[in-house]
Amino acid sequence: MRSLPLSLGLLLVCGCYWAQAPEPDGGGVRAGSLPLAWHTGGPRCGDAPEWEIHAYNPDLYILRENGCVNYEKPFLYLFFGSDKVLLIDTGAGETHVASAVSGVIDEWAARNHKPPPPLIVGHSHSHDDHIAGDAQFRARANTTVVQLSMEATMQTFEIPHWPDGMGKIDLGGRVIDVFPIPGHDVLSLAYYDRQTGILDAGDSLYPGRLYVHDFPAFVASTERMVRFTEGKIVTHIVGCHIEQSRTPYLDYKVGTKYQPDEHSLDMGRGQLLELNDALAHMKTPVRMAFRDFTIWPM
Ligand SMILES: [Zn+2]
Ligand SMILES: [Zn+2]
Repeated sequence: MRSLPLSLGLLLVCGCYWAQAPEPDGGGVRAGSLPLAWHTGGPRCGDAPEWEIHAYNPDLYILRENGCVNYEKPFLYLFFGSDKVLLIDTGAGETHVASAVSGVIDEWAARNHKPPPPLIVGHSHSHDDHIAGDAQFRARANTTVVQLSMEATMQTFEIPHWPDGMGKIDLGGRVIDVFPIPGHDVLSLAYYDRQTGILDAGDSLYPGRLYVHDFPAFVASTERMVRFTEGKIVTHIVGCHIEQSRTPYLDYKVGTKYQPDEHSLDMGRGQLLELNDALAHMKTPVRMAFRDFTIWPM
């Protein structure tokens, strides 16, 4: 007998549960790895470079700023396509961020026997701790820095309307979906890399304090991320900071440089659903702690 088991047959007839079916090929996404721990800065400063550079895979790099340089310790993401490179954010305080990024691009170009591709510098949002290196990139050859305005953001990422339009950018064989998620900041954006299944939610969802400046907008944006990810492979949801420790509910105080036992950078869609559910039931904005993050209305 070759008949399908009833449950599998129903699944195929229905055709609606494909995202829940096992994925023996890993979901068809390109694999990579995150480090088990980052050098956050300290216990003695001066031992580690300004920027820790991690290759998630040969075409995606994650840069993290050293806590001894700036306690915010933001993460930057560098996506390589065959024609262009996209950098998200430029860090906090004064660093040599452009030369760190150029080093990665030059090394990639040499490895791929190509000239260094044009660089586009976008942002997760417009707060100071994510844009401090912009001027260095404006002075860099072969580089376009997306201006911190709604118009420039919509134009670069082909977002038809704000905030509920879906945009994208094609880097050459690699499409990144880009859409507005205001609430933490008016210019907050989410980036979804179809190649790796990574969603970068910036400061809107990460293991730490989720500062909410515009509550109704934040609720709507979180719902938008839930709808967007429905039925999609989401390997990691990453953001710009880690403020949570590995101990559930315990975060590091504002200003902490050295975080020897910090939470992993990534979260999954489960935490996005948890956030969405909590917001949906929150009649008035209140501070509320969860295992991996805290909702923090301003
Ligand atoms: Zn922010
Ligand atoms: Zn931030």
